[in-house]
Amino acid sequence: METIEFVDLKTQASVIGTDIKRSIDRVISHGRFIMGSEVYELEEKLSDFTGAKHVVSCSSGTDALLMALMAIGIGPGDAVFTSPFTFIATAEVIGLLGAVPVFVDIDKDTFNLDPVKLEQAVKNFNKGDNTGLTPKCVIPVDIFGLPADYQTINKIAHKYNLRVIEDAAQSLGAKVGNNMACNLTHAATTSFFPTKPLGCYGDGGAIFTNDSDLNEKLISIRVHGKGQHKYDNVRMGINGRMDTLQAAVLIQKLKIFKGELRKRDRIARKYRERLNGWIQFQKIQDKYTSAWAQFSFLSKDRRKIITKLKINKIPYAIYYPKPLHLQKAFSMLKYKKGDFPVAEKVADTILSIPMHPYLSDEHIDFITQTIVSAVN
Ligand SMILES: *Cc1c(COP(=O)(O)O)cnc(C)c1O
Repeated sequence: METIEFVDLKTQASVIGTDIKRSIDRVISHGRFIMGSEVYELEEKLSDFTGAKHVVSCSSGTDALLMALMAIGIGPGDAVFTSPFTFIATAEVIGLLGAVPVFVDIDKDTFNLDPVKLEQAVKNFNKGDNTGLTPKCVIPVDIFGLPADYQTINKIAHKYNLRVIEDAAQSLGAKVGNNMACNLTHAATTSFFPTKPLGCYGDGGAIFTNDSDLNEKLISIRVHGKGQHKYDNVRMGINGRMDTLQAAVLIQKLKIFKGELRKRDRIARKYRERLNGWIQFQKIQDKYTSAWAQFSFLSKDRRKIITKLKINKIPYAIYYPKPLHLQKAFSMLKYKKGDFPVAEKVADTILSIPMHPYLSDEHIDFITQTIVSAVN
């Protein structure tokens, strides 16, 4: 049996590598490495794909979050609610702007931000130690590719005058009913890090919105706060552009992305059939589809499973072993163990197994049999 890859970019390259190389060659020929026509072409295609009116491509998923917060006007004295069960970038950008991340525990079944706890946190806000801060924004995360409960979150945000940014770094291609991820709330951000569902060959990201005013600000922030032209600077911005070469790669990969999503979904179904009863799956609610950035499950026997996976050379990962409220980087926020019991419990028992569109039936059988033998 061939080695099992956690994410198989080599097989993908054997499918569309020639098209990608041609696309890269075209950029080398025309020489517009910064903001070449491919960048705008990609933005248009992503707008068609998600239904979001405006798409601003940028340098990474982290910069996408940073730029979105900057465009909304988040800064010192502001509080931004988010999940403690995510990649550090989601909360890091809040702190970088001098605002304060306020964590809200996750739902025990979906692992996404719990809207009931969000409303409690907003209601109780100035009763605690947060006096002086103004609640401004919430960043729900679509963890492992599954959209958060935006229907409820959007209502709460409206009621308390909060902006919502969907961290869709893992969920491009997911759906709620007929609505695509990245178009479920005021603004959304995604990442094209190579191992995300739609990855480029380096760093890249994008911001999505239907708000024309926000779009104008994002375009300005992306290039040092430019106004009418490059040397007219009207606000603080960053160097946040996507390379033309990365756009050229993504245009080709986007052509096969829908097919890849269908394959991911089929693999997830097989995993769920074969592992049913042995482990606890992430709950996918009615009308929701996941982009399956990761296939992750809970098991109290995680250590036993890992031992068997290692023996059998099956790659695995733990996303995320330590919730953000317990990270040293946020020690100044004075959170302690026990503050977010669901996130802590999930972090202690979560495990991710190989997930990519090119996983063979033979590999799926081998992986699931290995897991069942570990917990049996
Ligand atoms: C990957 C990721 C990011 C950051 O994206 P980069 O492109 O690596 O900067 C942010 N949030 C989440 C949830 C992610 O998974």
